[in-house]
Amino acid sequence: MTEIIDGNAVASEIRTELTDAIETLADAGEQPTLATVLMSDDPASETYVSMKQDDCEEVGIEAVDVDIDPDAPAEELYDTIDELNADDGVNGILVQMPVPDHVDDREVLRRIDPEKDVDGFHPENVGRLVAGNARYKPCTPHGIQKLLDSAGVDPEGKDAVIVGRSDIVGKPMANLLIQKAEGGNATVTVCHSRTGDLAAKTREADILVAAAGVPEMIDGDMVQEGATVIDVGVNRVDADTEKGYELVGDVDYESAKAQAGAITPVPGGVGPMTRAMLLYNTVKATGRQADVDVTLP
Ligand code: NDP
Repeated sequence: MTEIIDGNAVASEIRTELTDAIETLADAGEQPTLATVLMSDDPASETYVSMKQDDCEEVGIEAVDVDIDPDAPAEELYDTIDELNADDGVNGILVQMPVPDHVDDREVLRRIDPEKDVDGFHPENVGRLVAGNARYKPCTPHGIQKLLDSAGVDPEGKDAVIVGRSDIVGKPMANLLIQKAEGGNATVTVCHSRTGDLAAKTREADILVAAAGVPEMIDGDMVQEGATVIDVGVNRVDADTEKGYELVGDVDYESAKAQAGAITPVPGGVGPMTRAMLLYNTVKATGRQADVDVTLP
């Protein structure tokens, strides 16, 4: 029987455990606060931000919502970040990507105070992650580490293959899995659009992480029997539904499930974990800034 790794259930456990940490902070007079900054009128980005705000509210994190006109000069966003950096009442800052073309997204990442960078994308935090001394682990790969743990899959000694080398998923995933630390110690291969014979690589994987953004590109023929398959992809494909589309992963679920030992569904796998780990990083940030010891799950 293939184990279906239930991201909703694991995320819910993490949120419950975070509630205890938030109480500890409250006892010390600290209210964790996340500022979300949206400079876009893309409906998907608006939805992501409002979901993040709802998540915050549910666990007792205050969400500060900053909207910037997408046509405003880039400086308006940079100045907003400076103000949030200087605001002691704000513990975490998240700028929803993508920002408009006239804004330099690297400048945005550099500008956020690394102590408040709960996405973990500031160059200093990326460097710390690579060096094995992460301040804030990026939410999606950190959530995947938690999912593996929940399924009893220890990466130590295993061959992990990651399809995708983006800065937000593929690269930090590789960095976490190769660390000489709990949840790491895997032998990692990172594949991308120029990889020759992708299937030969994926078939070697004991742990296969699909993060390419290509609907259902990994099918059962590309999966080793008994492998753990983590599907990060969230792709809209046309479908005869009320909305006119449905969400599918990068993995062809049915054929991959027939081969896999464990697999994450889409939706209900990695997505809820990404959201939970943002809350985790915000609570961690608050503890660090207030010098309060919080026990995190
Ligand atoms: P990017 O587009 O930034 O990166 C995609 C990566 O996949 C690139 O490295 C690209 O290679 C590689 N790739 C693309 N096509 C192929 C192919 N045919 N064969 C092999 N490699 C390929 O995407 P993200 O990392 O941001 O996101 C990946 C997916 O995960 C998307 O569907 C996204 O929506 C989803 N996502 C889901 C999250 C969640 O919480 N569930 C969070 C973040 C992302 P190259 O570098 O050569 O171009």
